[in-house]
Amino acid sequence: MIPVKTLSRQVPRWQRELARAITDPAELLRELELDPALLSAAQVAAARFSLRVPRGFVARMTKGDPDDPLLRQILPLGVELEATPGFVTDPVGDQAAQAAPGVLHKYHGRALLIVTGACAVHCRYCFRREYPYADSHAGVDEWRPALAYLAGDSSLREVILSGGDPLSLSDRRLGALLAALDRIPHLERLRIHSRQTIVLPERVDGGLLDLLAQTRLRPVLVVHANHPREIDAAVRAALTRLAEAGVTLLNQSVLLRGVNDSAAVLAELSEALFAARVLPYYLHLLDPVRGAAHFDVNKTEASAMIKTLRQRLPGYLMPRLVREQPGQLAKTPVG
Ligand SMILES: *Cc1c(COP(=O)(O)O)cnc(C)c1O
Ligand code: SF4
Repeated sequence: MIPVKTLSRQVPRWQRELARAITDPAELLRELELDPALLSAAQVAAARFSLRVPRGFVARMTKGDPDDPLLRQILPLGVELEATPGFVTDPVGDQAAQAAPGVLHKYHGRALLIVTGACAVHCRYCFRREYPYADSHAGVDEWRPALAYLAGDSSLREVILSGGDPLSLSDRRLGALLAALDRIPHLERLRIHSRQTIVLPERVDGGLLDLLAQTRLRPVLVVHANHPREIDAAVRAALTRLAEAGVTLLNQSVLLRGVNDSAAVLAELSEALFAARVLPYYLHLLDPVRGAAHFDVNKTEASAMIKTLRQRLPGYLMPRLVREQPGQLAKTPVG
């Protein structure tokens, strides 16, 4: 018999960290020495979309500051319950775009696979915060129709793994998926959209690097950081390991009121990303999802910010300001 202690050591460190994530608003407030008066609203909002945040991400927040830009992204607030006209449950028309169970095929040459509904962190502004994952989740067997769809459309060059967060899959399940994608001859690129490298850098371990080294597909990882303080030494080390393994690294952010709504913060973010081997890719205008209206920055303000940013940064550190419009054949440039 294997002693229990040995077994628990076989669970990768990132999975143990994931299991220890904070999900209780009371614990989060205590940990950050915040006013307990925030608790009742946080509990009500968390009943609609639960709190989840890894401890390592909380450690990057400033204690006692309710306006901390990292905290704002994850703390459930009472304002989330206010109805705002135009803010709906499926703002980007994803549910209508399902080409096969779990496959969104909106754009030419690339299709997006929703491989899990699970995330290491719950972002309050997430456009999929109310997505009915239970109806579109995929396990190794449930991926079969999705894989058949990808195999049957030879115009596809790229598969995008999304979710949820595709890196919440275990190495075993991710490995099985990558092996199946490898066998689809017309695919050339594998893109992974994941926030885990930022919120749970432990995920970038030997197991993940081995999987990426084994695939014949050219790997691109699009990370998701919104504020320069999200990129600490551990995140930089994780990203550097990926870059050295030959993974192309890009970042997408969401423009968020009270988080990164100034040219100064956005400039610092681009610089911090580059120092960690990542190039900025997209800066998304908020998708009008129910419960996130307090994060909204309007188009006019956003365009003015981008204009200022352009005067501060080299062109290659400029993110493209875009928004998603249902029915369009690409993301729509703004400004
Ligand atoms: C955003 C998105 C993509 C990727 O678009 P790029 O412009 O290639 O980054 C692909 N499929 C869907 C459904 C998307 O929403
Ligand atoms: S990690 Fe991405 S998919 Fe998950 S809650 Fe955050 S924004 Fe949404």
